[in-house]
Amino acid sequence: MDLKDAIRTIPDFPKEGIMFRDITTLMTNPKAFKASIDALAAPYKDKGLDNVAGIDARGFVFGAAVAYALGVGFVPIRKKGKLPFKTYSQDYELEYGSGTLEIHADSIRKGEKVLLIDDLIATGGTAEASMKLLEKTGAEIIGAAFVVDLPDLGGLGKITSMGIPVTALVAYDGH
Ligand code: AMP
Repeated sequence: MDLKDAIRTIPDFPKEGIMFRDITTLMTNPKAFKASIDALAAPYKDKGLDNVAGIDARGFVFGAAVAYALGVGFVPIRKKGKLPFKTYSQDYELEYGSGTLEIHADSIRKGEKVLLIDDLIATGGTAEASMKLLEKTGAEIIGAAFVVDLPDLGGLGKITSMGIPVTALVAYDGH
């Protein structure tokens, strides 16, 4: 099936010029949701993964389902101030201003194999900050997987150049 048929595009959201790729319509479509989880998980079936890490908040939906499909644990990477225990923090640049992501310092043990998941990669800033957090835990990053890639923004290339295998299920031109 073509997953793009299940993804809704909202022009000019949250601001003019952005084509917002709304994956909530994919989540409410049982066939498309299952197909996307199966496709994200497939390359990692025999890789000896320990954990899937998902990025706040849509990355939790796909990441937790992929973790369940692979029979491994799930680690949330959250926006600043949400995690209650000792954390590692990583600042990153947004289009306007900056943000901070955090991970529980004890969520992954040194050498554990981790797959990073988010719904969409654009500039790759969010994914890059998440990789840095995973590195701080001592994790071995086995790969990164996204439902949607916006290749014109270069994020997937940025992560690939860090030497991490990256997959994306569908791609859209433009922003
Ligand atoms: P980036 O850090 O530039 O790769 O941005 C990725 C994050 O921003 C993801 O968590 C996406 O959910 C969100 N995002 C960026 N651009 C879009 C878009 N056109 N449609 C939907 N979500 C987007």
